[in-house]
Amino acid sequence: MSKEIFIFGTGASRAGNSSIPLGHELGWCRLSGHIVGMDAEDGAIQIYNSFVNIIKRYYPQYESMLPVHDEIENNSDPTPYFGKDNNKRYISDLAKAISGELSFDKLLGNCKIQDDAAALSVIKRIIHEHLLSASLIANDHKPYEEFKKWIALKNPDDVTLISFNYDCLLNDLTRKYPVSFDYAIDFDYIDPVIQYNKNISKNVKRFKLLKPHGSLDWQVCVKCRKLHQKPWVKWDDFNNIKCTLDGCDGLLQSFIFMPHVDYPKENKTFELIDSAVGKSLREAVKLTVIGYSFPPYDNHMIDKIKNMKKLQNIEVVDFERQVDFERQNDRIQQTTRRICDEYNDKMLSGMSIKPKLKVSLNGFEDWIDSKVSQDIA
Ligand SMILES: [Zn+2]
Repeated sequence: MSKEIFIFGTGASRAGNSSIPLGHELGWCRLSGHIVGMDAEDGAIQIYNSFVNIIKRYYPQYESMLPVHDEIENNSDPTPYFGKDNNKRYISDLAKAISGELSFDKLLGNCKIQDDAAALSVIKRIIHEHLLSASLIANDHKPYEEFKKWIALKNPDDVTLISFNYDCLLNDLTRKYPVSFDYAIDFDYIDPVIQYNKNISKNVKRFKLLKPHGSLDWQVCVKCRKLHQKPWVKWDDFNNIKCTLDGCDGLLQSFIFMPHVDYPKENKTFELIDSAVGKSLREAVKLTVIGYSFPPYDNHMIDKIKNMKKLQNIEVVDFERQVDFERQNDRIQQTTRRICDEYNDKMLSGMSIKPKLKVSLNGFEDWIDSKVSQDIA
């Protein structure tokens, strides 16, 4: 029975790997990569052009900012740019100029409203490629490594981890760790490297790790619908790796869900994870949230938090950028107040006994360092 829950969001992965995009950056870096590497990467032009068409259709006000591929190709300047000669702009400028307004969250939401399956698939593919290419760059992730050392002190029956991240930086199962993880779902196929590490780590503590938004090391076959557990090796494996079960040759797709678009409520694997998340949360007395802000579209999870009847303590771990020393204290106080208000309004209102809320704003790395030096050193 779990008494303590740790929730991880993008902020946690970003704390140890600066290439992991935050919400408003998601997709845009990948898109610049598509343009820069257009000749080299097969299929990149097609995806880029499809994206341009989506923007033209849904957001005509930004059309003039988008380079068309022909202009880039016929240009002698090796760095692609767009706009007229006296007003050259690069794709990174485009990202800066409109990514705040045109977050991929918003794009997905609008395509969902229009029931535009083709557009959704293009955007999801760009997100997949972006996250995959960003997480493949990672070798070590210091805060996660420290965290694993630290939870090794705990009893796995008392702790559940919930991650909303698609990346596998916390739980790269091709590596050996002081602890191991159990996704609490069954796979039809497991990669031999993962299986080998599962076998040799039988004697280390095994913690439940629930990933309600899916994971980049899970794939589903488009033909037989069987679930695979396998690390992607290259960003473009997405469209190239095939299922090999019982003579099947269907393509594998990442088993990831965008909560604001398609919480796949009829999917058995999703239901299994979802009910495990609900059960763990109902039993928990302590909740630590690292780098996750419970965005409004994630009502499904917010409702689950509201149902935590036994909860006594919440700790929120986040990072407040320190602009300058004099204003630092003010900013930290303001941010703490804002986070407390948000939690009280969104999740804790209506709870008969209000849990104690603590906010730690020095970031994940600082937070885990202090835990480690307190409990291990
Ligand atoms: Zn198959």
